[in-house]
Amino acid sequence: MPRKILVTSALPYANGAIHLGHLVEYIQTDIWVRFQKMQPKDKVAECWYVCADDTHGTPIMLRAEKDGVTPEALIERAHGEHVRDFAGFHIAFDNFHSTHSPETREYCEIIYERLRRAGLIEKRAIEQYYDPVKQLFLPDRFIKGECPKCGAPDQYGDNCEVCGAAYTPNELKNPYSAVSGAKPELKDSEHYFFRLSDERCQGFLRRWTREAGRLQPEAANKMQEWLGAEGENRLTDWDISRDAPYFGFEIPGAPGKYFYVWLDAPIGYMGSFKNLCHRRGIDFDEYFRADTQTEMYHFIGKDILYFHALFWPAKLEHAGFRTPSGIFAHGFLTVDGVKMSKSRGTFITAESYLKTGLDPEWLRYYYAAKLNATMEDIDLNLEDFVARVNSDLVGKYVNIASRCAGFIGKKFGGKLAATGAEWQKPVRSASARIAEAYEQREFGRALREIMAFADMANVFVNDRKPWELAQRAGQEAELHAVCSQAIEAFRLLTLYLKPVLPRLAQAVEAFLGIAPLAWDDVAAPLPEGHAIEAYRHLMTRIDPRQVAALVEANKESLAPAAEAPAKDERTEEKAVAETTAPIGIDDFMKVELKVARIVDAGQVEGAEKLVRLSLDVGEEKPRQVFAGIKSAYDPAQLIGRMTVVVANLAPRKMRFGVSEGMILAASDSKGKTPGIFLLAPDAGASPGMRVK
Ligand SMILES: [Zn+2]
Repeated sequence: MPRKILVTSALPYANGAIHLGHLVEYIQTDIWVRFQKMQPKDKVAECWYVCADDTHGTPIMLRAEKDGVTPEALIERAHGEHVRDFAGFHIAFDNFHSTHSPETREYCEIIYERLRRAGLIEKRAIEQYYDPVKQLFLPDRFIKGECPKCGAPDQYGDNCEVCGAAYTPNELKNPYSAVSGAKPELKDSEHYFFRLSDERCQGFLRRWTREAGRLQPEAANKMQEWLGAEGENRLTDWDISRDAPYFGFEIPGAPGKYFYVWLDAPIGYMGSFKNLCHRRGIDFDEYFRADTQTEMYHFIGKDILYFHALFWPAKLEHAGFRTPSGIFAHGFLTVDGVKMSKSRGTFITAESYLKTGLDPEWLRYYYAAKLNATMEDIDLNLEDFVARVNSDLVGKYVNIASRCAGFIGKKFGGKLAATGAEWQKPVRSASARIAEAYEQREFGRALREIMAFADMANVFVNDRKPWELAQRAGQEAELHAVCSQAIEAFRLLTLYLKPVLPRLAQAVEAFLGIAPLAWDDVAAPLPEGHAIEAYRHLMTRIDPRQVAALVEANKESLAPAAEAPAKDERTEEKAVAETTAPIGIDDFMKVELKVARIVDAGQVEGAEKLVRLSLDVGEEKPRQVFAGIKSAYDPAQLIGRMTVVVANLAPRKMRFGVSEGMILAASDSKGKTPGIFLLAPDAGASPGMRVK
C-alpha cells in the first residue's frame, strides 16, 4: 500500500526572529519531505508538511504590552516575518498556520473534554508566586532572586546561570518579579492537571516508548530513565492550566482559567493540518483516527523531547486519536565550536543571512552534509563552510556542466549525442542506497556518496580532455560523446541533490530542458538528439568576506550602526583616531597592508565626511571603500593616486553600501596642524604589494 505521510517541524515561538539555530530543523525536515515528494506515487501517495507559529503564553502577552500592541497584532507581525524567512530558505511547508486559530481551539477542547471524561483531569489548589503590582501569577522565568546554592544575584526561578543549580522558585532568596520588580507573594490558585501518574498513562508510555521506530535509541533510553522501572510511579501530574490574565484559550467551563501554552502547542500540528485538509479536500480523520494506516513524524530539537515523547502521545492516546509514528530529535547548532553568541556575531538571524546576499542553498548544503539521524550537536564552522561549499558545489558539481556544456552549444547546435555509458553505472545503481540514506535522515552519508560520484565524473572529464579534443580535427564525435555523457552524469547528480538544492535543481531542469526531476528518472538517460539550453552560471563561490560581513552585521553592539549616517561616520573617525598600547610584531603582522590605486572616487549622497573610493588592490575586481576624507580632498583629484589600504579588515555594512577595507591617512588629533594627509608609496610600487 502506498504511504501517506504527515510531517511537522516544531512550532517557532511568535516573539522572536528565526535564526540559523532554528534553521537546522526546518532545513532537515524540508529535505526529508522533498525527498518523499520525489518518490513515485505507488510508493508515497501523499506527503504533507505542516507547521504553525506558537502564539500563546505570558511572554507573548508581556511583549505585546511592552510594544504597545495587542497580542493578536504581535503574532500577526511575527507570522509575516517567519513566512518571509522560511520562504527565503526554500522551506516548502504545505501549510504554515497559527496556534491562535479556530482549528487549534477546536482540538484543544475535544482533547481536554475526552481526557476529562476518561477521568484523567483533576482540579487541585497550588501555591504560586503572584505579582501584586501587575496582578499576575508569575511563570518561573519571570521570577528572579539570589541562587539558593551559590548566592549569585539576579538568577531565574528555575536554574542558576552561575553555578548551574536547578531549583523551584520558592527556594530563591529575596525573590522579585522580573516584570515589575515587586516582591512576589505566594498565593493559592486552583489549577487543572493531566493525571500522567495514572496507571493507564504510565503503562501506555512504557509500552509506546519502547516500540520500534517511535524514538531514536538514545531518546528511548532517556524516556526509560524518566519513566523508571516497571511498577515504579515516577511521572508526576502535569499542570495544564494558567490563570488570567493570560493570552491563550480559555478552558471550557472554567472561567478565568486558560490552557497552558504547552498543552496547545502540539495540538497546533492538528490545527494546521485540519486547516490544510479543509482547503485541499484531504481526509483529516484518515490521518488522525486511532486505527489509521497513515504515518506521522515530528522533527524536533532534543530539548523538547519530554513534551513530544511523553505528554503528546499520552494526550492523543487517551483522547482516542492516533499517536506519532516516530519522533526525530536533532542536536543543537554551535558556530565555530561554541554556542551562538550575540557579542561574537554568531547569533545570526535568517533575515541578516539573506540580506547579506549569501545563497540559502549554501547553508542547506552545509547543514545536510553535517546532519545524521542522531541527537548530536552540529557545528557550523565558518571557515569550513566556505571551503566545503566552494569545493563541493562549485569546484566539483557545477564544474562538470560548466566545462562541457559550452561545446554542446557551440559545436553541436545544443543537441546531445548518446548520453548513457557504462562508466555511469555505479551512479545509477546507487539510487536505492542514496534513497535509504535520505529516508534514514543520514544526509551526510548521502552527500558523501553523491560527491564521490561527482569526483568520478570529473576524473572522466579530466581524462578525456574535451578542451583538447576541440582543438583537434576529426575528434568531433569523441568530443560530442564525452560532453554528452558528462551532461548526463550532471543530470544524475542534480537528481540526487534535488532535496537539498531545490532552487539550483530547478535552474538545471530549465538548462537541460527537462520536466521536474523525480526519483525514478535515474533509469532513463537523456535521449540522443535532446536539445539543451545555453549554459548560464549556476552557482557562485562564497567570498569569505561575505561571511565576515555577516558576522559583523550580527554583532549586537554594531547592529544599529546600519541605520544612522552620522553614526557610520563617527565609527570611521573613531577607527582612525584611536591610539593603542604597545603591541608585538605578531599583532602587527595580522594587519595586511597593501598598496592600492584609486581607480575611481566620488561623493556619497547624504554623508557629511565620506568619499566613496574604488581601489585596485591587485585583485580580480576593485574594492569599494568609504573614507572620511571629504574635508581634505576633492574626489576628482584622487583618481589615479596610489595609497595604502588595510586589506584584511572585515567588510563593514554601512548605510551607503559595504566598505571593504580602510585607507591610511595621517592627521593631528590635537588639531595644531589641521587636515588629513593621505599616505602614498614611493614611485614604482604597484597595486597589491604588501606593506610591512
Ligand atoms: Zn548558583
